[in-house]
Amino acid sequence: MKIVHTIKEVRDIVKGWKKQGLSVGFVPTMGYLHEGHGSLVEMASKENDRVVVSIFVNPIQFGPKEDFSSYPRDLERDGKIVEAAGGDLIFNPSNEEMYLGDFSTYVDMNGITEGLCGAKRPGHFRGVCTVVTKLFNIVLPDKAYFGEKDAQQLAVIKRMVRDLDIPVEIVPCPIVRESDGLAMSSRNTYLNKEERKAALVLSRSLNSAKEALLQGERSAENIKSMISEILTEEPLARIDYVNVVDSLSLTEVVTIDKSVLIAIAVFIGKTRLIDNFIFEV
Ligand code: AMP
Repeated sequence: MKIVHTIKEVRDIVKGWKKQGLSVGFVPTMGYLHEGHGSLVEMASKENDRVVVSIFVNPIQFGPKEDFSSYPRDLERDGKIVEAAGGDLIFNPSNEEMYLGDFSTYVDMNGITEGLCGAKRPGHFRGVCTVVTKLFNIVLPDKAYFGEKDAQQLAVIKRMVRDLDIPVEIVPCPIVRESDGLAMSSRNTYLNKEERKAALVLSRSLNSAKEALLQGERSAENIKSMISEILTEEPLARIDYVNVVDSLSLTEVVTIDKSVLIAIAVFIGKTRLIDNFIFEV
């Protein structure tokens, strides 16, 4: 397993692999890796001859009041996780390597970027689409792996690849959770002991909604109220959004009669956490 910091180094290594006819899988991340990221790397290494993992805390996807500077970073630890999961190369560029001083081209998307996290984090998906396009152009992977944890991001990337004819297959990977149900996230490290306990309210509220759906509840409003009520009972939690949307178009639904995404974002103290599940009728 090798770690490189420049675009040229990645390009040279990948060119060598391609010359040998090897397939390349790619896992883009912001680092401070956990088992969720590990599962993406494992899946990529099962399906490809070589696996590239990018570790880059992308400044342009953070809002001015968000946690860009405090986002956790630990390249040495990340290297061990990537190696254990079967990764071959880490690309860890500097901000300057990715964004030249006069950088001025962005990839923007309407529609599915406008609700859910997009509504709460203006400019976030513009930053995500731009960096992922750049990373795809640098790594030129055959397949790229994204977690269902970030359900809207996954939908946005699939749409971008389709709309812009980017020749890469997007592979969705299931959410990996802690044994008590909390979805793994690099941001969980911000939580103190009480907040960590309180954070269980996210998965608990979603589990109740799942139960109600399995019992036949089909009103999106009732599902949203049920989730909101459970979240509101937790004093350390503050709802950012609770929504039920069509799982493909991400538009709001009234009656649940097709595949829907039930997605929530909740502040636990100052930490914003997201979770979701897909329900197929
Ligand atoms: P991040 O480093 O948070 O930008 O995440 C990098 C990739 O890992 C994204 O595709 C995420 O959806 C995915 N990911 C993050 N957490 C999890 C998780 N708990 N389970 C599965 N995938 C995850």
